[in-house]
Amino acid sequence: MAFASLGLSKALVRAAAEQRYTSPTPIQSRAIPAILDGRDLLAAAQTGTGKTAAFTLPLLHCLVKAGQTKNRPQPGRAPRALVLVPTRELAAQVGESIRVYGRHTETRAAVVFGGVGLKPQVEALRRGIDLLVATPGRLLDLVGQRHANLTKIDFFVLDEADRMLDLGFIHDIQRILRLLPKVRQNLLFSATFSEDIRELAAGFLHNPLCIDVAPRNAPAELVNQCVYHVPKAGKQFLLAHFLRQGHWGQTLVFTRTKYGADRLANQLGRSGFQVSVIHGNKSQTARTRALSDFKANRVQVLVATDIAARGLDIHQLPHVVNYELPDVPSDYIHRIGRTGRAGVCGEALSLVCTDEALKLGGIERLLGRKLPAYPAPADIVSAGKAEPAAPAAPPRRRLPNGRRHTTRVS
Ligand code: AMP
Repeated sequence: MAFASLGLSKALVRAAAEQRYTSPTPIQSRAIPAILDGRDLLAAAQTGTGKTAAFTLPLLHCLVKAGQTKNRPQPGRAPRALVLVPTRELAAQVGESIRVYGRHTETRAAVVFGGVGLKPQVEALRRGIDLLVATPGRLLDLVGQRHANLTKIDFFVLDEADRMLDLGFIHDIQRILRLLPKVRQNLLFSATFSEDIRELAAGFLHNPLCIDVAPRNAPAELVNQCVYHVPKAGKQFLLAHFLRQGHWGQTLVFTRTKYGADRLANQLGRSGFQVSVIHGNKSQTARTRALSDFKANRVQVLVATDIAARGLDIHQLPHVVNYELPDVPSDYIHRIGRTGRAGVCGEALSLVCTDEALKLGGIERLLGRKLPAYPAPADIVSAGKAEPAAPAAPPRRRLPNGRRHTTRVS
């Protein structure tokens, strides 16, 4: 099937072609015609399936077709489409997709999320927009202060609904739903489906088309997964060994806690690796910089907590490491879904110590199979002998306060 046969305008087909999308992904070929037809949608799509384009392309088409977009300031023009997402990173990413796919249209979009100043967001809203991408808390703030007007919304998208519920946004979602016009088209996307999600969906979707492009709770198919059994104290050495001897390129490493992320980043930094960190205690500026350094290949390793597991789309990311297993088994699927995206193979490796046996069992039950497991090489994990010669580290220099500085850990 070709993009041109989906019913999208030429400007959007051209934008897809410029992204070198030769044919629509399964979620796109099913969702796009249904959305263009005006149907509500309940879509189960695993990460990396192309679901962002599956809703942004038809939304842009509908907005353009309705002739209500003009790429010049129209003060006060209220948005007609709202995309609600759980995290700042995902908001930024969806905003970027809208920019890329809508570049040959005259649509205007704004992205609003917390952790950064209100002023630029207020100004963007004041200039008038067609699409608004938002996280729930900041959106409610902006509505409360009368900067955002949701009374003209014709299209409502709830993206990563399962994550929304995990993060406790259910009441914010209900409040936002009450602010929207009664008649509108609704699209709900979720990687996993629980009873809570079905209940939420039943509350606002009307006769939705249900699309399930992947078996429920299934990880991305193109990810090779395995487990290394390793004592807790040996994990950092095994990871350094893989990064170095395996000539791994860009690697995303997940820890369970923010403290653990900072500590691991410092350890890897001391071993000569270029590392960034992303977690919820970092300022939005630091999070954005960490991500852009990683995306631009300025750092080899990005250490992250689960907050980053959903929103990240890094082109051809080859390796994901679970330095610690997540508390919630489905988070494992979201983490490893950061690799093996858009047709490119990836590897997901979990370093598992004896304390984590129960968590591993939970993940394997969710996957419906045992993961291939290997013992860690003893000589690598026994700390003292473990560290092979570090690659040339950046020259140490004295900081004005007398302390030493090697690697930037943001
Ligand atoms: P998503 O699931 O929306 O996060 O998309 C995952 C990745 O798939 C992104 O890097 C997109 O650029 C890419 N992608 C989306 N649609 C297509 C397509 N039709 N063909 C190839 N890649 C795509």
